[in-house]
Amino acid sequence: MPFICENVECRAVLARGQVKPKREDSGWCFYCPDCKARNVLNDVGVPGGSLELVQPERSGLPHKVVATARQLEEGGYAAQLRVQRALGTRGTYAVEEHWDQLGVFLNAQEAVAHAKTVAADLLERKA
Ligand SMILES: [Zn+2]
Repeated sequence: MPFICENVECRAVLARGQVKPKREDSGWCFYCPDCKARNVLNDVGVPGGSLELVQPERSGLPHKVVATARQLEEGGYAAQLRVQRALGTRGTYAVEEHWDQLGVFLNAQEAVAHAKTVAADLLERKA
């Protein structure tokens, strides 16, 4: 099993020989050679036996949610959400979902604020 960088912007797939696991005060980890992101590792080896490092199981791959406001022709701003699900391999995102009409607001700030609230709910449900 290769390691996969958990940085959604990176998602580098790394052969075990490519990473240098480090033991820090908070536990094992490795730093992505591409983006330098810290990735957590768990030691699942038997105590006193050989070290066996795995990446912790995640319920899902990281998501990227972008909250934006779109100006409407008829006036006002629609709160908009772009959700990106990362693939298990490096590269583009697997799915991008749009919710065009989360609500219509008088100004852009309110629309973005609303989209962010929806985004936070969404990410919380995933966690
Ligand atoms: Zn990375």
